[in-house]
Amino acid sequence: MPSALPQVVAIEPTNDCNLRCVMCPRAKARKPIGFMDFALFAKVIDQLVALGVGAVALHLSGEPLLHPRIVEMVAYARDAGVGHVQFATNGTLLDAGVAAGLIAAGLDSLVVSMDAASAWAYCPADAERADVEAIDDNVRRLLSLRANAGADNPKVSMHIIAMSSTADLVPAFLARWRPVVDRVSEQPLLSWAGRVGVTDSVPLRLCGYCI
Ligand code: SF4
Repeated sequence: MPSALPQVVAIEPTNDCNLRCVMCPRAKARKPIGFMDFALFAKVIDQLVALGVGAVALHLSGEPLLHPRIVEMVAYARDAGVGHVQFATNGTLLDAGVAAGLIAAGLDSLVVSMDAASAWAYCPADAERADVEAIDDNVRRLLSLRANAGADNPKVSMHIIAMSSTADLVPAFLARWRPVVDRVSEQPLLSWAGRVGVTDSVPLRLCGYCI
């Protein structure tokens, strides 16, 4: 008989974000910005482990690295017995300290969503913070730290949105990252059931973090 348990449970450490991408559904959200209390997080993890849930994703609609205790959250979940801990990030805050912390904490996989086949600003409202070359450096440093630590994890995936205006960029993106990271993928452009007024005609201004 198939298990009624979800394969993965998403927990949102924060719905805050340091970027304002034009396609993001956060702009339409009505819930207030918040940061999950660590004690509540630990309680949820303990209950999930007791139920037998084997994987958690520490993101939903914000940037997880904004949470000041995200590394501790990863470590707590792994130590409690969660078999696979993952999250997605826009990569802007993935500095050396955070990267080393995530490796030591036992993060299993990390998705970095960016469209770095060329150096255009995909979040024009925050072009400086969304510097794709800096994100590129952050990802490569994480991989270097992982190698230096002799660790296999976190497995790193790079995502790019595939749409008509990025079609020419996708092959270069895949070619650039395929030899570097563990996985690359194209993601479809979503309108979030019509909540986000982004069409396929919007030019080169998308990051794929929420996809
Ligand atoms: S798409 Fe992702 S990175 Fe961009 S504003 Fe939304 S949550 Fe932040």
